[in-house]
Formats: sequence, structure tokens, C-alpha cells
Amino acid sequence: MRMSRAFLRTLRDDPADADIDSHRLLLRAGCIRRVASGFYAWLPIGRRVLARVEAIVREEVDAAGAQEVILPIVQPIELWVRSGREGAYGPLMFRLRDRKEAEFCLSPTAEEVITSLVAGELSSYRDLPVNLYQVNWKYRDELRPRFGLLRAREFLMKDSYSFHVDEADLRRTYQDMFDAYSRVFTRCGLTFRAVEGEAGEMGGDVNHEFMAVAAIGEDDFVWCTNCDYAANVEVARRQATSTPPEPGVAVVDAPPREKVHTPGLPGIDGVAEHLGASPAVLLKCMAFDADGELGLALVPGDRELNPFALAAALAPRRVRLLDDADFERRPELPKGYIGPDYAGVALVVADPMVAAAQEWITGANEVDHHVRHAVLGRDFEVDRWADLVAVVSGDPCPRDGHKLSVDRGIEVGQVFQLGTKYSSALDALYTDEAGEQHPMVMGCYGLGISRVVTAVVEEHHDEHGIVWPATLAPYPAHLVALPGRGDTAAEVVAAAERLYEELLAAGVEVLYDDRDASPGVKFADADLLGMPTRVTVGAKGLARGIVELRDRRSGEQTEVPIADAVRALAGRG
Ligand code: ATP
Ligand code: MG
Repeated sequence: MRMSRAFLRTLRDDPADADIDSHRLLLRAGCIRRVASGFYAWLPIGRRVLARVEAIVREEVDAAGAQEVILPIVQPIELWVRSGREGAYGPLMFRLRDRKEAEFCLSPTAEEVITSLVAGELSSYRDLPVNLYQVNWKYRDELRPRFGLLRAREFLMKDSYSFHVDEADLRRTYQDMFDAYSRVFTRCGLTFRAVEGEAGEMGGDVNHEFMAVAAIGEDDFVWCTNCDYAANVEVARRQATSTPPEPGVAVVDAPPREKVHTPGLPGIDGVAEHLGASPAVLLKCMAFDADGELGLALVPGDRELNPFALAAALAPRRVRLLDDADFERRPELPKGYIGPDYAGVALVVADPMVAAAQEWITGANEVDHHVRHAVLGRDFEVDRWADLVAVVSGDPCPRDGHKLSVDRGIEVGQVFQLGTKYSSALDALYTDEAGEQHPMVMGCYGLGISRVVTAVVEEHHDEHGIVWPATLAPYPAHLVALPGRGDTAAEVVAAAERLYEELLAAGVEVLYDDRDASPGVKFADADLLGMPTRVTVGAKGLARGIVELRDRRSGEQTEVPIADAVRALAGRG
């Protein structure tokens, strides 16, 4: 593509309304333009990237046995009434009426449409399983459209739906789709992990969210930097580095417990500073209510208690940390000064980290006082040991002991074991060998194709522009002609033109900067646009019979005889 003819205008300056790097760079590189809040036009360069993501997705889900269909974007509301989701989607749904006042919506997703389609086509166990997908635009009137393509109101999704005779068969396809998603995101160059989602309304619906690691992501999650362990912050655990002691075994060489005056210092940091100690040697005692009984949860002072972990450890008892109102109601509790041996406590739960230290500084059960040298087994006891601390970056992975990382993530896809919710509501039934009817068991699998483009640019850019992974680059090479103003200008142009034609003939797609512009402008655009290899044809090189290749990611430059340039680039593409 000749840049002199391309529908491509790069922007020197950052657009005012772009709040994150990917949005800013996609606008500056002429990939997208805003039409209205949450609605974008895809310009030729951007459309090529989108098409490459689509192609990868199609290859992988086709290989997983899925078949492509195209469903209408306009859907009758009636189907949503039948599934019971019309109300649940509420204002997220774009609604419209036809001239006969019939109600429709713009597809926010397509479980209803596909289920009713399959209900009309398939009826026997012999027809199943079937796995159908489409790549199509979705519409959601998001409360806060933002970050460009990340949370748009129109976005491209690959959505699949699978239909089975039973759960076991669903689980096989679920695993195939899970693996296909992993391959898609790997090929797109994303650092990602699959996080097991919280159980749905029905309690047991298995689902995984594929999260791309990104500072601008909207959800926190924990992942292992070495293995594929990943979890929501609520359910993430660290590998225990210390084991709870045998009951009754106390460390005896610590000095006796000593009360110290800590006036007006109910917080860990204040006490630590006052006593010249590290927060790590203070014992945090968090009061909670478990079915009406008072309990204490113990964690080291430099760690946070994960309330979900506490609740999980004590389930099925209902657990709630005491809040300010509780303390007001119970003035006898010395808030901020409670120690692990507080008299009215029915249950003491501690994280194994509490067993690791010889002694602790902790509350003295008396306002304005703490104690030093509180020793487990001598001065206080623990009833239950459980992982209670919130995981932080650097903690050991529960699976392989490597470092965990707590980051934000972008949800780029989700796979879901739906069960029979939609098939029951929309009569997608099959007859088994014995002639009995059952609702089909369903899975659904969404992948945000346009959101992937954003996630990829978030991960692959530098201060100069986008650095496209080779698999997604709009063009594998960016040819820059620098004829200059000297006598050899015509020669350089001729050589660049020849190389351009040869590359095209060899099947290497190339963006060719044939504009009358300065080297500075051309190089800045090449960096901004981010093709993997820049090929420069200039007067000096030409005199020596070479062109210069520059790798966008590493900045590494190599010289190649002009006669070998096509071969060198064909090898890279
Ligand atoms: P989110 O929690 O981000 O709102 P979701 O869980 O509602 O997303 P799904 O219904 O699971 O989204 O849709 C499947 C995929 O479509 C998501 O994993 C995401 O990649 C993409 N997606 C969802 N909403 C948007 C949006 N507003 N803009 C761009 N992509 C989106
Ligand atoms: Mg989702």
C-alpha cells in the first residue's frame, strides 16, 4: 500500500479525549476514529488488525470443531421475554420498534436466538453435540463507555454456543474451547491467565474468565508468573511457608509478657512507629461475628486479612467483620487494643504466618496499651489455622512456589458451562435412546475481538508508538524511501519502487512510504504505526548496494544487499 494513496492520517499530538495508551495510539496511528461515545469507525490499518485477530480466532475455534453461522443483529424482544432475561439486561439493551410497533433489540449477546434456532433444527441425541459460533457486532448501552475499544457500545465478539446430551459431553467441549482460547491469546501475543469465575446465580455454573495482564484493566487478579495458576483476589491463596505448631508446644526462651503504654495509637503503623518496631512483628487481631459469637482473626501486622478467606474457612457459619457501628454498640470492646487472649472470644482463627514468629507485639485488651513478647502457646492459643492473609505480589504460588503477581486484568474472553437454563426456557429438547425428552445441556463462549486489539496495544507499545506482534501487524514490513534532494534522488526512488513491486510479487504485503516527506516524519510514522520491520532505501546505502532493515521491537538494525531484501523479508513475514 502506497502511503501517498492510503486513507491514513497519523496524528502528531495526543487526542484530548483519549485516556489510556492504547486508545491514544490507535487514534494517532489512524486505526480508528470516534463516531459517537462508544462507537468507532475502523479505518483501513485498524481493520486489517481486526481481521487478523478474527482469522486467528476462526482457525482455532474451527479446529475445536465449531461451525460458523451468522445471526441477525436485530433480535425480537419476545425471545428475551421467554428466557426471562429481558428485565435483567435492562438499560444495557438498545431497543427499537419496527413500523408495526413490534419490539426488537440490538444483539448484546445471542443465547436466546441460537437456542431457539437449534430447537427448531435438532431433536435427537444423534444430532448432538453441536458447537456453533459467529463473529458479529454486539451492542450494549454501557453505563460508562470508556477507554476506546475496551468498553465500547458497539464491539466485535466471537460468540459460540454448544449443545450436548449431558454435562460430561459439555465438559469435553468446554475443555476444547478453553484450549482454543489459550492458543488464540498466545498467538495474539498477550500475557494472560484463565481465572476461575465465581459460581453463578445457580451456585454451580463453572466458568473461566481470560484476563490479559494490563495496568488499565478493570479487575484485580492474582497470577503465577511461572505456571498457569490464577485466581480472583478473593479466592487467591499463597503457599504456606510455615506450618502450624503442635498444640501446647510453646517457645519458652522469650522474655515474659510486658505491658507498654501506647496512648491514642489504635492502628498498627502508629504503634510500630511509637515502639520503633516493624509492623511485621505486630499481631493484627480482627474481631468478627460468627453466627452471633465473637471471634478473632489473627494475621501479621504488615498483612491484610482477606475477609473472603475467613468466611470460607468458617463456612457454613455466617461470618462478618465488626464495623464501627458494632464497636459503638459494644463499648466494652477495646477497639484497636484487642489482644489474641481477649476474654469474651469464642473462636480464634489464625493464618499459619502467625506460627512463624517467636513472639508478637499485640493489643493488651485495654485501651491505650499493648504488650510485647506475647508468645503463641504460652500467652495465647489458636483454635483454628487457616490461610487468611490477602495475597500480595511476591507471595509464593500455591501450586509451584514461584512468585505470584497481583495485577489488573482486561477480560478478553469468558467460557461458561450454562446447563439447561436457556434450553429449558426456549424448548431446545432432544429425545434420548429410550425416547425420553430432555433439555439440551449448553455451554457458551465469548471472546472480545475488538477488545483484544486494545489489550494487545496496551501490552505492545513504547513511547514512540505501537509495536505490533508479527501475527497481528497490518503489514509485515514498512518500506521507507529517502530520496533526499541530491542527484541520486531519482535513482533511490527507482530502487524503492522496484523493491516495492518485487515484494508484492513475492506475496509480501508492505506499507510503502512514497510520500514527499522528511526522513524525520517518515521514521516517526513508521515507529507510530508499528510494523515489525522497517526497510529503508537511502542514497548512501544504495551507493553500497544495501538497504537497511530495522526491527521495531528491538531496534536492531541490519544491512542487507538490495538483491537479498525480498528473500530476507519473505522469511520474516
Ligand atoms: P465486562 O465484565 O467487561 O462488562 P462481560 O462479562 O459483560 O464483560 P461477556 O458477556 O462475557 O462480557 O462478553 C464476552 C466478551 O466480550 C468479554 O469477555 C469481553 O472481551 C467482550 N466485551 C464485553 N463487553 C464489551 C464492551 N463493552 N466493549 C468491548 N468488549 C466487550
Ligand atoms: Mg464476561
